[in-house]
Amino acid sequence: MNACDVLVVGGGPAGSTISALLTEKGWRVTLLEKEHHPRFHIGESLLPHNLPILERLGVLEQVDAIGIKKPGADFNSNLEVSGHHQFHFAFALDKNHPYAYEVRRSEFDNVLLRNSATKGTQVLEGVHVTAVDFPTAGDPVVRAMDEHGRESHWTCRFFVDASGRDTLLARKLDLKRKNPRHASAAIFGHFDGVDRRPGEYEGNISVYWFEHGWFWMIPLRDGTMSVGAVCRPDYLKRRTTPPPEFLLQTISLGHPEMRHRMRNATLIDNVARATGNYSYECTRMRGERYIMVGDAYAFVDPVFSSGVLLGMNSGMLGAEAVDAWLRGDASADTRFRHFERMVRRGVKTFSWFITRFNSPGMRSLLLHPGNPFRVQEAVTSLLAGDVFRDIGARSRFWFFKTLYVVFSVAHARESFRLWRLRVGNPRVAFSGGTTPVDAEAQPQR
Ligand SMILES: Cc1cc2nc3c(=O)[nH]c(=O)nc-3n(C[C@H](O)[C@H](O)[C@H](O)COP(=O)(O)OP(=O)(O)OC[C@H]3O[C@@H](n4cnc5c(N)ncnc54)[C@H](O)[C@@H]3O)c2cc1C
Repeated sequence: MNACDVLVVGGGPAGSTISALLTEKGWRVTLLEKEHHPRFHIGESLLPHNLPILERLGVLEQVDAIGIKKPGADFNSNLEVSGHHQFHFAFALDKNHPYAYEVRRSEFDNVLLRNSATKGTQVLEGVHVTAVDFPTAGDPVVRAMDEHGRESHWTCRFFVDASGRDTLLARKLDLKRKNPRHASAAIFGHFDGVDRRPGEYEGNISVYWFEHGWFWMIPLRDGTMSVGAVCRPDYLKRRTTPPPEFLLQTISLGHPEMRHRMRNATLIDNVARATGNYSYECTRMRGERYIMVGDAYAFVDPVFSSGVLLGMNSGMLGAEAVDAWLRGDASADTRFRHFERMVRRGVKTFSWFITRFNSPGMRSLLLHPGNPFRVQEAVTSLLAGDVFRDIGARSRFWFFKTLYVVFSVAHARESFRLWRLRVGNPRVAFSGGTTPVDAEAQPQR
């Protein structure tokens, strides 16, 4: 039986963040990761408010070396054949966070995991956690299996689930609930030969609407362009060709400007991946001697690039609470409640935008922005990830919500059509978790 103070399952951004910070505080932390980094992961576009966390972890320079600066996003409506609408982070209420980064996740996650190991976390890769038990008296007990089939057992004073969309604890405790208001699935690949935005906007993420959902184009440092489509699951269900062909067919339905930018594109190694990504949230994120951080607690559609920030932020807040608990500090309960409140706030804020993203009311507001009472600056702040403090963005957010209702009423017929499509979606069965389309499995709850 191996022993440690904190056992973390998963070496993604959330697990690497919480393990690094708890190790810094002097605790014996073990992190078990089933894969070997660097490993592929989707989710390459960060938000400006990731940067203070990267600085806090001491990896900002390394991320700068592997990433490309992202000054904002541009959006293309499917109603317009040319031109796009820029969304600059420098326009936010707080002008001190004018950019984020686009990163190759294999490199980014590797930087974060190695950083945690350098600080002293015991990082074991190729070790799959298969079970965890919480005896009524005593420490949590964890069972794991390495890639050679050797089993190991661990006890820890505190258990952290950072297993991402595998949702280890949520599955065990039956805590996972599909978000009934949003359902989508994605197909994506890396391309050579795609036109970038010129000059200082080279690092922009581009978002294009199309009939079945939306596309992303994320430029990476070595010239590669990550291109993916987040679609309604019923569209992906129709697929009859292998993923690479289906991705190319889907791109051929895209916006004319996007197709023009991809006229000389080649799909690198002819590899396309697909995933069901039903949005979900768990009914709780902590219990006696455990917390869940990052996607292990909730996953929201990636349209606003919020996943990595939400995961790392929950890791950072979780570290404060777990540290207080391990010290037996009276503030532990207050810190856990703060952790819960902030995590819920992040998920709720982004969910509000996401579930309305494809609606005509939201399109009108995003594509034809005005700035009465600095409302667009406030929305830019929230979408830059500035959701965990109040610098005036949240009060203006209410005003934005009112404008949204007005715009939606003005486009009532189209709003109704899309609402009907959306509420019909959750009934369409599709794979979930990290299950690839080809190994389509159980629909999730
Ligand atoms: C199509 C798509 C596009 C996205 N685009 C973006 C984007 O542009 N920007 C953004 O910020 N986010 C994006 N996301 C979301 C983002 O990828 C996630 O929110 C983020 O990776 C969450 O980090 P995490 O550490 O919680 O989980 P993960 O990064 O998934 O890490 C979990 C780790 O746990 C390991 N693990 C799982 N189970 C076990 C086990 N039993 N034992 C041991 N190890 C285990 C896994 O191998 C993995 O390394 C996107 C997601 C999807 C599906």
